[in-house]
This record gives sequence, structure tokens and C-alpha cells, in this order.
Amino acid sequence: MPGIVYLVGAGPGDPGLMTRRSLELIEQADAILYDRLIPPGALAGAREDADLRYVGKQPGGHSMEQDEINALLVELGRAGGVVVRLKGGDPFVFGRGGEEAQALAEAGIPFEVVPAVTAGVAAPAYAGIPVTHRDDASAVALVTGHEDPTKPESALDWPALAAFPGTLVLYMGIKNLSGIASSLVAGGRPDSEPVAVVERGTLPGQRTVTGTLADIADRVAEAGIRPPAVTLVGSVARLRDELEWLER
Ligand code: SAH
Repeated sequence: MPGIVYLVGAGPGDPGLMTRRSLELIEQADAILYDRLIPPGALAGAREDADLRYVGKQPGGHSMEQDEINALLVELGRAGGVVVRLKGGDPFVFGRGGEEAQALAEAGIPFEVVPAVTAGVAAPAYAGIPVTHRDDASAVALVTGHEDPTKPESALDWPALAAFPGTLVLYMGIKNLSGIASSLVAGGRPDSEPVAVVERGTLPGQRTVTGTLADIADRVAEAGIRPPAVTLVGSVARLRDELEWLER
């Protein structure tokens, strides 16, 4: 009899933001495949005999290919028991959870998805930035900043993103920040548009750098901001300075 695979979100980093469901499943799991960006101590409740496997991507180091992770999930699912695939943030927001769900469905392995708060909403919240606001933003777009907009092969429509009437939340966008900012300005966003970058959101040592599309890349470089960080573009980013007292 095949087991069941749970694609579980562990939230953005603060262990207090892990869902009750995620903690229950971690306690029950026969096997847990986990990523680098999971909260500290997330596996503390795992069974002593649980098969714990790190499958995260090490920047610059050896990393397991997504195909290998999918194959391992299918193999463990076939073997039976409770398998937990634990991911940072929400499993279906830039977590490649969609591909894992497809691989499991194709192989006929039962699975369930356990959502969680995504870094693109939680990190700004801890920095005092609401991603929507009645006066400032009636829509939010979650965007990958992994694509270099200055390269012709970028799959994103940057002029359309520049015209988007609301907050842009960029994940994985630190390396390409200067190209992203100039593409948005080229697409019509004012270069005075407020921007905030939140590094290690909800974790100890969280840092926020604010600026505008014109100067954010320089400010972020000056501050030595490194991934993981999310970038907020839009007038809500200005609220950071009003609500600064909120930051832990
Ligand atoms: N599934 C995750 C996103 C995975 S992509 C989620 O829903 O949050 C990885 C990117 O998420 C990072 O490059 C960064 O942009 C963002 N991220 C993850 N954890 C973060 C944190 N604690 N603070 C800021 N950004 C974070």
C-alpha cells in the first residue's frame, strides 16, 4: 500500500509562525525531506526513528536536482507511511511544490498540500509594511526576480509588470535588483516609487532597507543585503517608516 506525501509549508522562518498542522505532521512522519530555508528547530518534534533527509540547494555548493527530489518523493511515497516534504514559506509559492505535486499525481501517490504564510507577505508584515492598503494598493503581484530583465530570454513581461496597478513583491531578486529597478522605470514606474527590501524576514537579525527605484540597488549593495530577501515596490513601502516601531 502506498503511503501519503504531505507537501508542507514551514512558514518564513519564525518558528512561531509554523501551523499546528505542520507540527502534527512533523511528529507523525516516517520520513521528512527538508529544505535549507526552514525555521530553526522545525524538526525538533520529529520522531527519533524518522528518516530525515536534507534536499536543499546550497548556494554555490552541491544541490539535488529537482528531478531527483521528485523521484525520491515518489520512491518514499511508494514505500508507504507518512512522508513530509517540508519547505520554507508556502509550498505552492515559488517552492516548486507544483512540480512535486504533478510528479506524485503522475505516479499515483496520494498527496496533500498544507499551505503556510509566504515570505512575501510575512517579511513585509514584520517590517511594518502591509502588502495591500485601502488607500495605497488594491492588488499585489508575486513575482520572481530570478529572471534577469536585461537578458532577452527573460520570460517575464517587464513593461506589463511596470504597469501593474498595485504592489510588486519580488522573490529571489537581490542579484538582479539594479536591472529590475531600471526595467520598471523604463516601463513607466516613476523613479521616485518607494521600495523596501526585507532581509531574513521574521528571523533574528531581520533587516530592512528602504529607498526608491532610483537608489534602492545602491542602498542594498551598501548595506550588504544578501538572500533570503524580498523586495516590495509600491507606495505601501513608504509605510515602513511610519510603522517602524513594529519591527522586532
Ligand atoms: N516558498 C517560499 C519561497 C521560496 S523562493 C515562500 O512562500 O516564502 C526563495 C525566496 O523566498 C528567497 O529568495 C526570498 O526572496 C524569499 N524568502 C524566503 N524566506 C525569506 C525570509 N525569511 N525573508 C525574506 N525573504 C525570504
